[in-house]
Amino acid sequence: MVAASEEVGNPSSVHGFGRRARARLEDARESIAEWLDVAPDRVTFVSGATEANNLALAQADGPVLASAIEHPSVLEAVPGTLRLPVEADGRVDPERCERLAAETGCGLVAVMLANNETGIVQPVREIARRLRRRGIRLHVDAAQVPGRLEFAFAELGADYLALSAHKFGGPPGIGALVAGPGIELRPLLRGGGQERRSRAGTENLPAACGFAAALRAIGREEIRRIAELRDRLEAAVAGYPDVVIIGRNRPRLANTSCILLAGIAADLLVMRLDLEGVAVGAGAACSSGKMAESHVLAAMGLPREIASCAIRVSLGWTTGEAEIAAFLAAFRKIRGELRDRPGLANPAPATT
Ligand code: PLP
Repeated sequence: MVAASEEVGNPSSVHGFGRRARARLEDARESIAEWLDVAPDRVTFVSGATEANNLALAQADGPVLASAIEHPSVLEAVPGTLRLPVEADGRVDPERCERLAAETGCGLVAVMLANNETGIVQPVREIARRLRRRGIRLHVDAAQVPGRLEFAFAELGADYLALSAHKFGGPPGIGALVAGPGIELRPLLRGGGQERRSRAGTENLPAACGFAAALRAIGREEIRRIAELRDRLEAAVAGYPDVVIIGRNRPRLANTSCILLAGIAADLLVMRLDLEGVAVGAGAACSSGKMAESHVLAAMGLPREIASCAIRVSLGWTTGEAEIAAFLAAFRKIRGELRDRPGLANPAPATT
């Protein structure tokens, strides 16, 4: 990234400086394509998964069907997008997906590879197989996946795939939309002819190089290391009778744990953990002091009073043994203090 940021040329310029910048950009693209096992011209650089999702859904001919647990950048990309329910286990039923897509005359279905709140992995290969035989295209948001689950684009059978570099240690503001063989993208951003006329605007060369470098740095061993730490954390908290771990026995990303402490609101737990130096997310987004319901947990049929207690613990490349120990010590302390408060002595039974 440092070397690329010192390039003075614009990849679209024909002079020597421009050609040097172009060569670096295409090296980055080739490296990303190799990691994904696709041809380089299948990779279109965009500003991140939000744009990749919007661009993918803009390709739809006819109505779009999106799983109810998608990121808002999918759910809100196209007005009138139809919702595909998920089952109580947080997964899309491929047969139901195929049936609904056919009944509604959909041209495009969006099912994410793994969910950002629960880490639960979707049966994308089976969904792709069923949609393909009906001529319906499939978009897969894989923003959460690199470094947390092994996958290959070709093997998924999807038509489009969205990535965001900052999710796996790359810089913010860069991502890609990957398109299947023979699929040309209709642009959302119009202007210059960059990215084979699929996405106008001067390319972000340093960020593209950082994107490629971050992908190359992901190793199989790292996914195993994170999963082991996550499992250790979960085994420790699962010992408390008032703790529920959502999706624990389902296929999940290596790094995500959706935990709830029955009867303790997520925003309170997030704040108390923050005071102990531990940063976790609330399963439900907290906006202007009011807890918004998590659309993901609601779609799984979790009652609001349970869903509002869910925190999201995410491990990453900077997480090690010391962070797990610090989390567990803080969790134990806070749980003890909150349980001692009057009125909270008898937690709601953990039913999920
Ligand atoms: N899709 C998923 C599943 C995400 O988790 C996110 C970000 O949190 C996005 C899309 C959007 O990514 P970005 O903000 O990098 O555009």
